[in-house]
Amino acid sequence: MGLREFVPSEWCLRCQRCCRFSNQVSPWIPVFSAKEAEELIARGYPLAVFNKAFNEDPSVDVRVKVKQYRDYYICPFFDPEKNCCEVYPLRPFDCRLYPFLLVRRDGVLYLGVDKECPFVEHLFETEQEWHVQRFADYLVDYLASPEGSDEVNTHPSMIAPYPGNIMLLREIRL
Ligand code: SF4
Ligand code: SF4
Repeated sequence: MGLREFVPSEWCLRCQRCCRFSNQVSPWIPVFSAKEAEELIARGYPLAVFNKAFNEDPSVDVRVKVKQYRDYYICPFFDPEKNCCEVYPLRPFDCRLYPFLLVRRDGVLYLGVDKECPFVEHLFETEQEWHVQRFADYLVDYLASPEGSDEVNTHPSMIAPYPGNIMLLREIRL
């Protein structure tokens, strides 16, 4: 079935927000499952783009090693000249889910949305929040499906502690 896209690509292609990080240990650096990382390695990407933990134990969740670009850091799969992801069809579930996120607050798992994504911001500013809510309903069903729960179970560390600036939408029970 596959996860549906929420943000129209024309918004992302002119946005300067995703795939860039303020430091090398940012919690926003995407999590890959071992399977997603292995698929990219099989396509010729070097093992060195992934962090040390994965190099030592391929069964763990893995993050990419970001690289410095100008005065910030970028994902090694990001092409800053074209402003796009080089591995777009193979990008991890963590990236495919965004601007929605899974966060844990007081032991409860929530689906949230990052209102700082310009597309989400636009929907709220133009009284189209229903669009976010309807997609949240779709995501709740997707996450409850065998495919969706498998995505979450193979990416346990993508569930972040509640960072405070995320709008919580739904409680999730897997
Ligand atoms: S912040 Fe939103 S609009 Fe910008 S690149 Fe990310 S998903 Fe696309
Ligand atoms: S994998 Fe692609 S979409 Fe995800 S952070 Fe890297 S460049 Fe961006």
